[in-house]
Amino acid sequence: LIVQGLVYLQYFNYSMQIFRIPSQFHAFCKESGKSSSIGFVPTMGALHEGHLALVKKAKSENTIVVVSIFVNPLQFNNPEDLKKYPRTESEDLAMLEAEGVNAVLIPDPALVYEAPTALSFDFGNLERVMEGAFRSGHFNGVAVIVSKLFHWASPDRVYFGQKDLQQVRIVETLIRDLSFPFQLVCCPTFREESGLAMSSRNRRLSETGKIKAASIYKSLLDAKKRLQDGLPIAEVKKLVSLELEKNGDFKVEYFEITDYETLQPLQTLHSSSKVALCIAAFLEEVRLIDNILIEF
Ligand code: AMP
Repeated sequence: LIVQGLVYLQYFNYSMQIFRIPSQFHAFCKESGKSSSIGFVPTMGALHEGHLALVKKAKSENTIVVVSIFVNPLQFNNPEDLKKYPRTESEDLAMLEAEGVNAVLIPDPALVYEAPTALSFDFGNLERVMEGAFRSGHFNGVAVIVSKLFHWASPDRVYFGQKDLQQVRIVETLIRDLSFPFQLVCCPTFREESGLAMSSRNRRLSETGKIKAASIYKSLLDAKKRLQDGLPIAEVKKLVSLELEKNGDFKVEYFEITDYETLQPLQTLHSSSKVALCIAAFLEEVRLIDNILIEF
């Protein structure tokens, strides 16, 4: 009986809590936050090693880790993309439990958007480029959902991936402008051995597609080398699209060479430039994004 009791206690103490009702998740986080620091990792599920790297980082810096899984309709400009977004809830939960995550919020959409959102966000020039320019309303949707999630999780630190660099800048701006009382921790992009940035959307690629998709990262590395060799920005941009599109597999939506902080396109480079190379390209009708950072 004692052993059974201990096993139960251990299970009771360490099992991951799953919440579907945001107010209950909020109550859990508020109570836990009294004696623990909370690291929060928002996701859209279909989890992979990249997400788990964020969870591991959060675990190393906080007493407890909470994760949200929510495919947020408000940030999808393309209904087909929303419909086809992979959903793998039971695998996701098993992965999070194995990482020792304390609580997961998988909110009922009707409780997230109890009424249509009247508020809308405008991040100025930061959202006039790249993802914001090509996915109308995307960052408004991101800002609305992360604001709600931040209130519910009331974290000490929030964890985002450099894979979505523009999202990092947008959320940093949101945190600053609305005085959320915590910092964003930006984690490096986790890649397959081939160099392909891990992404939930990679699941929609065929096996050959996955091999071809590694060319995106390669094109970023080639561009970096050319810039370091002194090739002008305009030339480097032209070559990236030309080379990726030459076999007819890829359609490049944008490739930008931008200032690392403002994400505004650069015309020339200086000796102290901090630069982000950012790309979005379609392969097998799947939209893939990636970026790398360079310092001169
Ligand atoms: P998502 O589920 O795609 O919304 O991603 C949730 C979080 O995981 C975001 O902060 C992403 O930037 C981050 N993330 C996605 N893929 C990767 C990756 N390959 N490496 C690091 N972070 C990632």
